[in-house]
Amino acid sequence: MTLPSTTTTAAAAPTVLVIASGNPGKVREFAALLADLGLEIRPQPEGLEVEETGQSFAENARLKAEAVARATGHWALADDSGLSVEALGGAPGIHSARYADSDAARIARLLEELETAQTGPGSSGTAPNRNAHFTAALALADPSGAVVLEVEGLCPGTILEAPRGAGGFGYDPVFSVPEAGQTFAEMDHARKAELGHRGRAFALLRPKLQALLARV
Ligand code: IMP
Repeated sequence: MTLPSTTTTAAAAPTVLVIASGNPGKVREFAALLADLGLEIRPQPEGLEVEETGQSFAENARLKAEAVARATGHWALADDSGLSVEALGGAPGIHSARYADSDAARIARLLEELETAQTGPGSSGTAPNRNAHFTAALALADPSGAVVLEVEGLCPGTILEAPRGAGGFGYDPVFSVPEAGQTFAEMDHARKAELGHRGRAFALLRPKLQALLARV
């Protein structure tokens, strides 16, 4: 006698994607941006530090994605981002995280340096130039550590003389986006995702990421 065969179709486990960042502000933003893609989002393992020795945002994003994918054996999405201020020759740029020890100290140093650049020796004495932009370079590495996608997003804005707003992280309270008439710290998540550098970069990455995942 042959018994009827039973077919049990096990649901496929979701693909794991590790956010290659120790910055809770960034991890929160990515988790929201990735929420509808059916992935299992994991934070970078504690204690895993990747040295940012690159000379550009893109180079540092690549280093982080490669290292975290190799260490975990999973897909890894890395972001290297920062603020470039015209009157400071593009500083703090790729050194944005290392500019001072805390968000408050980073903002205080930025406002101080901007003041000095505009009123100190060598300044032009013309209207203060407070133009700046944020950059986010994203790199996606496959589980072997090979970088398979790279994109970059920019958000132009101006630096305020004093912080405004209570949300966000980093330089958000002093970065105002003219088309919104708000600082990043005053925006809700959806608005920052739409206008912000990370959201803009992610909008470029999303269709490519979806196409890749469809083949996994
Ligand atoms: P890294 O990409 O980990 O090297 O750090 C980038 C640094 O730039 C952060 O620690 C923040 O100080 C700053 N930064 C990057 N993105 C944002 C943002 O969306 N808002 C405010 N500050 C940011």
